[in-house]
Amino acid sequence: MIKTDAVIVGAGPVGLFAVFELGIMGLNAHVIDNLDKVGGQCIELYPDKPIYDIPALPECTGESLTKNLLKQIEPFKTNFHLNQRVEKLEKKNNHWLVTTSDQVQFETPNIIIAAGVGSFEPRKPPIKDIEKFERTNLFYSVKDKNKFKDQIVCIFGGGDSALDWTVELSKISKKIILIHRREEFRAAQHTVNLARELEKNGKVEILTNYQPVNFEGNDKIEKVVLKHDSGEQKEISADSVLAFFGLKMELGPIANWGLDLEAKSLKVNTQNFETNEKGIFAIGDICTYPGKLKLILSGFHESALCAQECFKRARPDEKYVFRFTTSSSDIQKRLGVK
Ligand code: FAD
Repeated sequence: MIKTDAVIVGAGPVGLFAVFELGIMGLNAHVIDNLDKVGGQCIELYPDKPIYDIPALPECTGESLTKNLLKQIEPFKTNFHLNQRVEKLEKKNNHWLVTTSDQVQFETPNIIIAAGVGSFEPRKPPIKDIEKFERTNLFYSVKDKNKFKDQIVCIFGGGDSALDWTVELSKISKKIILIHRREEFRAAQHTVNLARELEKNGKVEILTNYQPVNFEGNDKIEKVVLKHDSGEQKEISADSVLAFFGLKMELGPIANWGLDLEAKSLKVNTQNFETNEKGIFAIGDICTYPGKLKLILSGFHESALCAQECFKRARPDEKYVFRFTTSSSDIQKRLGVK
């Protein structure tokens, strides 16, 4: 059980800035995200796109904004728990117990939900009992590429993830079979060209206009059954299957925590961004209130106000004194300013 001043659900830009606002008050936080990286929508949906409305940054990208936010919170040595979804919430006196999908447990007086438009979840092919294969040889991301060493790997998809992994895994796998439902790929052209080159050498087989119709096997996928647009069926054997059908966003378990919802957003008061439950806050895209704008700068403002209330709950015996970062030696000490 990890005890902490605050648990932040979501490592998007707003969750990251909340770490800063808590940190300068001397509060520590643990951040949980379902993705394998931090940055939320900025990194997952538009890492290279320019952003023009971050105050005092005339232009940045999703990626550079994330890098700078990480740099800003470096002094706080934040604990990130990636690749896991926040599942369960229970009340314990004045505190909350939070459990993730990896069964990591936290006890905290403050939960800050900065979950954006929900957790990014993989789109799955519509195959019966698909979940049983997820425990063995069906994957939606690559956590350890060595798992695929000397294997025959079926990769589904036509975007960057499918093509990047086709090229990368072809270096260590026995064979890669890349399967896409269309003729054309959506990935970067140079990666498509590389995959086509590998096809000529026999390291990669590319099957287009095919879709999966069944995975056969008891606990493990042994055969993949494919259907061509023409109606022809084909069976192929594989050691592992990687499916890259894109991501969808789902509010997930948060929807069942008894919090007041309005059109899939969490209702908050604008004084401290608390929900209808004491000690549970919502900031960033996930929250709603009259006049809410789903902008990064709104989320930054919301995190500053919510942190003040978190302080009161985490340090009930201390008086909080508002100070500017320019003039507070305490804050500067926490930031490691010499
Ligand atoms: P998000 O960035 O959505 O991050 C939320 C994180 O929470 C995700 O990583 C998710 O995986 C995680 N999560 C959710 N539920 C759980 C759970 N149960 N367990 C674990 N993790 C969970 N805004 C601007 O201000 N300026 C712009 O120019 C701009 N351009 C944009 C362009 C595009 C193409 C898009 C899509 C958005 C743009 N936005 C822009 C909007 C901006 O990206 C969002 O307002 C911002 O990302 C919201 O940040 P957030 O931290 O609230 O949520």
